[in-house]
Amino acid sequence: MLYRNLSGYFREKYGKRLSKICIDGGFSCPNRDGTVGVGGCIYCGERGAGEHITGGDITSQVQRALDAAKEGEEFVAYFQNFTNTYAELSVLRERYDAALIDERIRVIAIGTRPDCISPEVCELIASYSDRVDVWVELGLQTANDRTAEIINRGYKTEVFDKAVKLLSEYSIPVVVHLIVGLPTEGREEIEETARHLSAMPIWGIKIHSIYVSRGTRLAEMYASREYEPPTEDEYLQSVIYILTHISPKTVVHRLTGDCPEGQLIAPEWNRNKHALIEKINEEMKSRGLRQGCLYNLD
Ligand code: SF4
Repeated sequence: MLYRNLSGYFREKYGKRLSKICIDGGFSCPNRDGTVGVGGCIYCGERGAGEHITGGDITSQVQRALDAAKEGEEFVAYFQNFTNTYAELSVLRERYDAALIDERIRVIAIGTRPDCISPEVCELIASYSDRVDVWVELGLQTANDRTAEIINRGYKTEVFDKAVKLLSEYSIPVVVHLIVGLPTEGREEIEETARHLSAMPIWGIKIHSIYVSRGTRLAEMYASREYEPPTEDEYLQSVIYILTHISPKTVVHRLTGDCPEGQLIAPEWNRNKHALIEKINEEMKSRGLRQGCLYNLD
């Protein structure tokens, strides 16, 4: 096994792969509404990282997936768009409950920002673990605070560190999102981020390849030549660096980006994620590398 991927984890835990129901929970984001910032992160599209999700209320979104389910199929209810802990507790409870309408939902996954994690939010999320498994996904993207400013992330890395600590105190597994290829970042920053994460109680990781999507600030930077995405090989080498330096126990949820259909401006190599994953696998095999083989060795 080159790395501990999510399907393998699902098979160990549930005896089968779980399917994901991506949900637009109707939330907004403090980095867009002026509370923390305006305009959002420079790569974020209009729908807050969930452009493919078809609308409707939460229960209808889930019910559509359940109606189309194959025999024996079970699910992760994934609150994806925008910041899914950014509301009053009573609203959060109502929206999470609206997804848990069937025992075939085995997991509730909540995507959010670390500056929207509080003890009260943790307590609420942890309370669902009696009924389903839970995990929280935090968009770190980079551990480098200088890059964080350039991408308009709107919080410092120490805020992420505190959120991870708090979530761990409530035994809530954390999935961290990274983006490889952010403006001004090269190998040094990737190494810094990998080192930072290797010292933290991170349960899962999603590595996204950067994509320049239509209508974003990043697209303007690309058009004015302020920004150039990495080459496919630079991407591949960075991913391998991260994989070999994180804990072998971390569950690898994703190794590529997923630009919504018709939105990709660059890089071209981002169009074929299966080929990209294949190249990462081949390179790791040929170099005799495994996830975590250099963990804590530097
Ligand atoms: S935190 Fe997420 S939803 Fe908010 S602007 Fe950044 S990418 Fe978009």
